[in-house]
Amino acid sequence: EFVRATQLQGVEEPSAPPTSTQAQQKESIQAVRRSLPVFPFREELLAAIANHQVLIIEGETGSGKTTQIPQYLFEEGYTNKGMKIACTQPRRVAAMSVAARVAREMGVKFLGNWGVETGVGYSIRFEDCTSERTVLRYMTDGMLLREFLSEPDLASYSVVMVDEAHERTLHTDILFGLIKDVARFRPELKVLVASATMDTARFSTFFDDAPVFRIPGRRFPVDIFYTKAPEADYLEACVVSVLQIHVTQPPGDILVFLTGQEEIEAACEMLQDRCRRLGSKIRELLVLPIYANLPSDMQARIFQPTPPGARKVVVATNIAETSLTIEGIIYVLDPGFCKQKSYNPRTGMESLTVTPCSKVTNQRGGRAGRVAAGKCFRLYTAWAYQHELEETTVPEIQRTSLGNVVLLLKSLGIHDLMHFDFLDPPPYETLLLALEQLYALGALNHLGELTTSGRKMAELPVDPMLSKMILASEKYSCSEEILTVAAMLSVNNSIFYRPKDKVVHADNARVNFFLPGGDHLVLLNVYTQWAESGYSSQWCYENFVQFRSMRRARDVREQLEGLLERVEVGLSSCQGDYIRVRKAITAGYFYHTARLTRSGYRTVKQQQTVFIHPNSSLFEQQPRWLLYHELVLTTKEFMRQVLEIESSWLLEVAPHYYKAKELEDPHAKKMPKKIGKTREELG
Ligand code: ADP
Ligand code: MG
Repeated sequence: EFVRATQLQGVEEPSAPPTSTQAQQKESIQAVRRSLPVFPFREELLAAIANHQVLIIEGETGSGKTTQIPQYLFEEGYTNKGMKIACTQPRRVAAMSVAARVAREMGVKFLGNWGVETGVGYSIRFEDCTSERTVLRYMTDGMLLREFLSEPDLASYSVVMVDEAHERTLHTDILFGLIKDVARFRPELKVLVASATMDTARFSTFFDDAPVFRIPGRRFPVDIFYTKAPEADYLEACVVSVLQIHVTQPPGDILVFLTGQEEIEAACEMLQDRCRRLGSKIRELLVLPIYANLPSDMQARIFQPTPPGARKVVVATNIAETSLTIEGIIYVLDPGFCKQKSYNPRTGMESLTVTPCSKVTNQRGGRAGRVAAGKCFRLYTAWAYQHELEETTVPEIQRTSLGNVVLLLKSLGIHDLMHFDFLDPPPYETLLLALEQLYALGALNHLGELTTSGRKMAELPVDPMLSKMILASEKYSCSEEILTVAAMLSVNNSIFYRPKDKVVHADNARVNFFLPGGDHLVLLNVYTQWAESGYSSQWCYENFVQFRSMRRARDVREQLEGLLERVEVGLSSCQGDYIRVRKAITAGYFYHTARLTRSGYRTVKQQQTVFIHPNSSLFEQQPRWLLYHELVLTTKEFMRQVLEIESSWLLEVAPHYYKAKELEDPHAKKMPKKIGKTREELG
C-alpha cells in the first residue's frame, strides 16, 4: 500500500501534455511498460529468481532492467512484511531519475523532499529521500556499501539488485565481495546482478556459476561512420557535425557524448549561438545538456518528447551510455573521449584526465538504434579505433585510492584485505598505501586494527582525511567553522559562477572573498556571508555565487552536524582565530603538503613537482609551506584548494609522520646570518 502524497514539491517528472487526461496518461504509461523488451519475460524471470539465489541478468540498455524488475518483484510480494528491495546505481543522477520514473509508473507521487512516506525513493550521499515505508530503494552503490555498517547482514532487504554492474565502479566491485558473503548465510536473500551486454560470464563465475538470464534486445541496425582524418579540436568538430546532421539528415534526435560539465556547457553555448545566427534559415534545434550536477528540473527536460518539426540534441556525459535511456535518438556523435581517473600509488597522486575511450564504449553507438535504424558518427578514424583504443576499461578499483574503502572494510571486521574476495584485485601498492595512510591518520594501529578514532572516522560519510579534520576540530575548538569548510569542500569547484559575458565582474566578486591564509578560509568566508544574508538567493546572484551549490553545502553541513554527537565532537567556534581552523585542517591533510623550493613547489614527502592552481587565492602569494585539498593533473599537476601552513604545525599534528629534520628549510631566503653566527663561525 502506498501513501498518496497530496502536495507536489520538487517534482522530478516532466509535466503532462495539456491534452491528455490523467486516465489516458496512466494507460499510456502502462502501455509503455508492456512494450518493453523485458515484459514478455516477466514470468520466466520471476521463476528464475524464485529458483536461484543469485541471478545474472543481461539486457541491452533500455530493455527495462532498472525500472521494471524491481516493480515485478514488488508485485510478486517480495516487499511483504516491510522487506525492502535495493537497486544500486553507480551514478547519483541515475538513482534519482530512475526512482522518479518508477514512482510515476506506480502512480505514487514522487517527492524530492525528506522523510516523505512513499513506496519508492532514492538515497544518495547527503540526500536520503526514503523513509521506513520506502520499500523500493534506488541508491548509489556507495550508499548500499554504507548500509553494511548499520546492518551487516542486510536483514531488512529481501532482494539486492546490483545494477549497471558492467561499469565496475569501485563501490560496485566491493559490493560483490560483501554480498557474496552475506548470501552464504542468508539463503533467502535474492541477489540480482544486472548488466548491459558485457562481462556477464565473469559475474557468473564469480558467483559460483550463477545462471545468466538474457533479455533479447530489439535493436535496429546502426551505421557507423568514422572521420577520414583525426580531428584537432573535437569540441568544434562536434558542434559543426551536429549542425550538419540537423541540416542534412532526416528527422530524429541527436545524442552527443562529451566528457564533463565544462565541455558540455561550452558545446551547448556554441550550438545555441550558431543557431541564433542562422535564425529562421534552419528548423528549430533544442539544445539540452545532461550531467551529474545539473538541477533535476533541467535533467527532466531531456525526457520530454521533441515538438513536431523540431529536433533535439542532448549533450551528455557518459551517463547516457547505459544508465539513462532517451527515446527518439537516431544519431549519435561520439568524439571517443571520456574523463578517467587514475592513481599512482607511488606518489599518491590521483588524476582526472580526458583519455580515449575503450572499445567497450561501442555501447554509445547502440543508443542510436533503439527506435529506428540509426547512425553513429565517430569523430576519430577507423584506424584509431583499430589500433589506438584499449579493448576494455580498467576497473576503477585498479586506478583509484582505496583509503575510504579500506576503512569501511576494516569497520566491517574484515581484516585480511589481501584475501578479500575481489572480482579483480587492486594493485598491492595501492592497498599498502591506503593502510599506511590510515595508520598515519591514526585510524589503524600498528597491527592494522581499527582504533577508536578510526571507528569514528568511518561513521562520517566522507574521505578519511576530511573525517580526520572534523575530528581534530574538537581539539582546536572550531567545529562550527570546520563543518562549513568540510561542506564547502564537498561541493567543490561549483561555488563560483563565471558567465562568459561577465568574466571581469565575476572575478572581482571572487577576489572580494579572499582572506589571508588560503582557499579554505575563502570558502568559509563565502558561506558565512551567505548565512548572514539569510541564505539569500539574491545575495548569491549579486556575488556571482551559485545558489544551488550553496544550498547543497548547507544540506551537507546540516547532515555532518547531525553526526557530530556520534563521533563525540562538540559544537564550538574559533571566534575569528583562524589559526585554529588552519591547524585542524592540517591535522587531516598533513599528507598533502608542499613546500616552495628554488625550482617551485614540491610535495614534502615524495618530492613531486606541483603547481598552485591559477584560481587559488594564493596563486600570487606563493607561501613557503602549504597543504592542498586535491592534486589534479590537467595541463600540469595542479594543487586545488590550498592553504598556507607553518611547518611547525606539521610536527604538532603529526609527530609520528614528520621529523623536524625533513622540515628544515635549506632554501630559506634569509638565513639568520646577521642575527647570529653559524655553527662553523662559532667553531
Ligand atoms: P535498462 O535498465 O534496461 O537500461 P530502463 O528500465 O532504464 O532500462 O528503461 C526502460 C524504458 O523505460 C526506457 O527505454 C524508456 O522507454 C523508459 N524510461 C526510463 N526512464 C524514463 C524517463 N525518465 N522518462 C521517460 N521514459 C523513461
Ligand atoms: Mg538500467
